[in-house]
Amino acid sequence: MSSTATFPTYRGRMEYVCLGCDARYPHDSLLYTCPKCGGVFLLENLDFQLLKKRDGAFWRELFDARAASRVTALRGVFRYYELLAPLLDEEDIVYLGEGNTPIVEAAPALRDAVGLPFAYKNDGQNPSASFKDRGMACAFSYLKWLCRCRQWDEVLTVCASTGDTSAAAALYAAYIGPPLKSVVLLPKGKVTPQQLSQPLGSGATVLELPGVFDDCMKAVEHLAENYRVALLNSKNAWRILGQESWAYETAQWYNWDVTGLCLFVPIGNAGNITAIMSGFLKLRDLGITTGLPRVFGVQSEHANPVYRYYAVPAQNRQWRPVRVTSSVAQAAMIGNPVSFPRVRALAERFTAAGGERAFQVIQVTEQQIMDAMIKANRHGHIACTQGGESLAGLMNAKILGLIGNGERALLNATAHSLKFAGFQEMYFTDGFTPEYGITPDKSLANEPHSLLPKSARTGKSDGEYARLAAQAVVERLQLRRK
Ligand SMILES: *Cc1c(COP(=O)(O)O)cnc(C)c1O
Ligand SMILES: [Zn+2]
Repeated sequence: MSSTATFPTYRGRMEYVCLGCDARYPHDSLLYTCPKCGGVFLLENLDFQLLKKRDGAFWRELFDARAASRVTALRGVFRYYELLAPLLDEEDIVYLGEGNTPIVEAAPALRDAVGLPFAYKNDGQNPSASFKDRGMACAFSYLKWLCRCRQWDEVLTVCASTGDTSAAAALYAAYIGPPLKSVVLLPKGKVTPQQLSQPLGSGATVLELPGVFDDCMKAVEHLAENYRVALLNSKNAWRILGQESWAYETAQWYNWDVTGLCLFVPIGNAGNITAIMSGFLKLRDLGITTGLPRVFGVQSEHANPVYRYYAVPAQNRQWRPVRVTSSVAQAAMIGNPVSFPRVRALAERFTAAGGERAFQVIQVTEQQIMDAMIKANRHGHIACTQGGESLAGLMNAKILGLIGNGERALLNATAHSLKFAGFQEMYFTDGFTPEYGITPDKSLANEPHSLLPKSARTGKSDGEYARLAAQAVVERLQLRRK
């Protein structure tokens, strides 16, 4: 069907499918909410069946070979072009180095402490340092394609964000340039300074609103429904397709055998867990894999609507958004996740194929999230607070007996630890305000030590000062001569 040295020739036929009323809409317009029922969409390839003319082995070999491709458009998430948005042409695809993130085995001491083999998939090693780049690569490539087809001369891209969506959206918009212009809407004081610096550095218009993410989301939804703007939140179904690449890469890394693998994924707006389940179902549908992994969604007790929904028996389940309270897993601090209907639909398909235990949601405390993040990073990992949430979820799953011997876990480290350095600082200095409910383990605190007073530098040559500094280190560390 395609060689690895050239861009694929296969093209699918994509349609938006409403999860509320099953209405279908053509792929060539910007749609986020069903005009008939207000439901959310997933995208479907009407010619997915054609891909089944080839067997699983064909696809496994193709994707394995493509991992070495030098075609720029195929180096990132579009390695899996046929499974993503196979209507784009090579010239549309934006590649900023996203995807193909490393899976790093837990340090042996950490693995032993947790009592189970596990690894982190470091999605913080994406260009804007979170998994959001996977979705943006697809959504922006689609937008480029649409601008080309429609000859639009100006398109305003907007998003509400807990920090990482805006960083990614602003980055891709800046790279593409005109006709795109990026605007981001942030809850004031509820994104970290590092996250705020990202859209500013990319030149986006940054608007701050008092309130929480859910307030910003409602505002941009209103804009997207009534004005000519392109919405880049995960309500944008093209983003979901891009984020499915996490599942494809994971399966490929484990040599297309994912049985016995337990995935831990933090849930915020619930786009990512949707994408991950959707991706694994597609792989199975094409015979690329035979089984399914087990998926554990993880939520903080300060932002836990999805946990609450699944915590009761199926016949008693009722969807109720919650009012969030301060959470260190700030990127997932969402009380009314837009993608909840997608989670419900995908979880149903996932458990139908993989059994009741194939999808579960676990709750963790703020204390557990911070302890887990600090512990992971003390062992050489680069987990953000949400990555800490994943590890806390694994530890709870083990305590609850939900994960057994012979199983291994893969934790989604959704962003880079550096974005959340402020929470580490609060942990080390016992600086959490009471609403977090976090008491740091003081034995883990770390701080810089001052060696010499500033005045020590005056009047000394470089050589004298170096010897003085070295002497101060010797005393501080009680070093012994060789
Ligand atoms: C966005 C985000 C999440 C939550 O993902 P959803 O798709 O909104 O559920 C978790 N962690 C980080 C670092 C994020 O940026
Ligand atoms: Zn509908």
